Amino acid sequence: MDTGLQLAPYAARPERSSGRRFSEPPPDSRTEFQRDRDRIIHSSAFRRLEYKTQVFINHEGDLFRTRLTHSIEVAQIARSIARNLRLNEDLVEAISLAHDLGHTPFGHAGQDALNDCMRDHGGFEHNLQSLRVVDKLEQRYGAFDGLNLMFETREGILKHCSTANARKLGEIGQRFLEKKQPSLEAQLANLADEIAYNNHDIDDGLRSGLLTTEQLDGIDFYARHRREVEAAYPGIGGRRAINETIRRMINALIVDLTDASSRRIAEARPATLNDVRNAGPLIAFSEAMREEAATLKGFLHENLYRHYRVNRMTSKARRIVTELFDAFMGEPNLLPPDYQAPGSDHQDESVQARIVADYIAGMTDRYAIREHRRLFVIDEM
Ligand code: MG
Repeated sequence: MDTGLQLAPYAARPERSSGRRFSEPPPDSRTEFQRDRDRIIHSSAFRRLEYKTQVFINHEGDLFRTRLTHSIEVAQIARSIARNLRLNEDLVEAISLAHDLGHTPFGHAGQDALNDCMRDHGGFEHNLQSLRVVDKLEQRYGAFDGLNLMFETREGILKHCSTANARKLGEIGQRFLEKKQPSLEAQLANLADEIAYNNHDIDDGLRSGLLTTEQLDGIDFYARHRREVEAAYPGIGGRRAINETIRRMINALIVDLTDASSRRIAEARPATLNDVRNAGPLIAFSEAMREEAATLKGFLHENLYRHYRVNRMTSKARRIVTELFDAFMGEPNLLPPDYQAPGSDHQDESVQARIVADYIAGMTDRYAIREHRRLFVIDEM
């Protein structure tokens, strides 16, 4: 299928892709990147996102974002901008939906705890784990492990990577060693992620009562839009005023990112994806908006992510992940059969640690809590 006509010359195109690791016949009713998106949606890791924390644990309330709704919001924002910039919407959607597949239960608290547990075994990093999920851990196809996604999708999923890990990864790690950029679609998915979480964390923060509108009025970017809303709809208040304010903030960020990126692209004049790789980052906010976004992020770190009630969750999460890890390392025969390699009694310690990390990283919040109870509470089976 050719959808290339509307695409900018520097957009990613299936026909010029570096392809899949295992070659497959081309799809007959969709593009290669649509096929990637579909494979991601049908994966088990994608379904698990529904029960993984963004900031609030899944059972804390029905309206808070989970990693699943977060990923869908990222895809929505990224696709809107991609269409305006004539980038490949299918690719940007696939990357957005897959970007958090490797997240542990309990959000960043879980990832930090697992990284500490894995200190002597190569560490744990959720971007790398997302790639590991789509390259290896999903078992859906007879012919290969993983989802066998296109190079450009995998490249977009691997947002960050240490030099040491990049060396081990071969072709996909190369750009970190050569200090080159990924496709514009990958750059875009990354910033759409930021737009999504900054805004929905404000929304969830207010809904939970951990943040107040009075606190937010101290942030110029919020206060400005809030005043605009009150001027347009005198007497508006409550949730409706918050929603209308956040809606306008998201819109302002999207418009700025689109305009500023268009300008940068026009200046750099890339003719091909290869030119994009050799240029500096071309998808970026304006300088002024970058500062506003940074202030917002700083505010959320200070007031939401380190709120004492979030700290309690973080501390509990750390304990659960660490105790699960130690229990499975001490007694590998406690692992479910799928995670026990034959002869695993004499497994190399780092190989064993990676198996345990894969098992824990795949858990949802509630599964991790249940598994912890099953291992540590005597009368729980
Ligand atoms: Mg994300």
